[in-house]
Amino acid sequence: MTDNDRHIKVLVLGAGPAGLSAALYAARAELAPVVLTGMQLGGQAALTHTIENYPGFPEGVGGAQLGELFQKQAEHFGAQVEFDMAHEVDFSQHPYKVTADSGDYFAESVIITTGASPVHLNVPGEVELTGRGVSYCATCDGWFFKDKKVAIVGGGDSAFEEALFITRYASSVTLIHRRDEFRASPILQKRAKDHPKMNFITNTVVTEIVGSDKLTTLKLKNVATNEESTFDTDGLFIFIGHTPNTQMFQGKLEMSDLGYIKVNDKMETSVPGVYAAGEAADPHFRQVVTSAGMGAAAAIQATRYLEAQEAVHS
Ligand code: NAP
Repeated sequence: MTDNDRHIKVLVLGAGPAGLSAALYAARAELAPVVLTGMQLGGQAALTHTIENYPGFPEGVGGAQLGELFQKQAEHFGAQVEFDMAHEVDFSQHPYKVTADSGDYFAESVIITTGASPVHLNVPGEVELTGRGVSYCATCDGWFFKDKKVAIVGGGDSAFEEALFITRYASSVTLIHRRDEFRASPILQKRAKDHPKMNFITNTVVTEIVGSDKLTTLKLKNVATNEESTFDTDGLFIFIGHTPNTQMFQGKLEMSDLGYIKVNDKMETSVPGVYAAGEAADPHFRQVVTSAGMGAAAAIQATRYLEAQEAVHS
């Protein structure tokens, strides 16, 4: 990229469904958007084995494949996708300054779609045994557990969906949940409960993850009886929710107590010309389709903002 290329109309931070949809809309508005991918091209969706609820794919679609299609479509209309990571933003000057690995970008408008990351259990052994039996990504690591015993923590859609995916490989999959009710959708619950490889341990939390060079055992506690027990397993997948990737914007944009960027119904943040979409701004829905919709809305609003700016300055 030349210095000139670094002065851009629309800079999109993040390349998940929200970011790439925003890029598609901004590209079709001929704003030549630049997308900084951050760590994960395709976002969390790219780590999902099959997405069955994105409209237009009645047979389901691979998460990585959907991400590639989003990217291809945005690039087809002129979006530029850069494998670059933003570190710092300065919204006190306009054009806004975004500092990334490759240098500074100056953007007339910014669309933040930095997504969210998995929450950790925060129990002893978790950090040490991550990558040695402990994982947060079934699509990435499921096949390591062929014919092995796997445990899952969580009671939401992610835990059920990923547990079902791991049944393809593992000899047994035991879902451990802190309550005796699950918040996963009924269709996933039914599929899991009917699956011959699935087992359930409820009212139970993992208190310690044990193993020297690889995971061997979980220490468990029944929260109803306080009874302690152990559970031998080769793998542990943790799916207990997500936290938004918004640390970079602390003190620079209004945020909720949980760190989600506050937006209005036009995806506007507290700074004019700066928009947020997808899981960085959405604690409620967190679906590929809703993130894509938010991204499109943000780009439409950015287009209007830039048109208004041009009208003022011409
Ligand atoms: P979630 O719905 O927030 O569920 C998190 C689960 O983890 C809950 O069961 C929660 O227990 C449990 N949990 C939280 N903290 C814990 C801790 N410290 N120790 C033990 N358990 C803990 O998260 P998610 O499953 O990742 O789903 C997030 C959103 O994405 C949801 O809106 C979901 O519908 C959506 N999603 C949809 C699909 C799909 O439609 N195919 C797939 C994946 C995700 P409690 O129930 O007791 O709070």
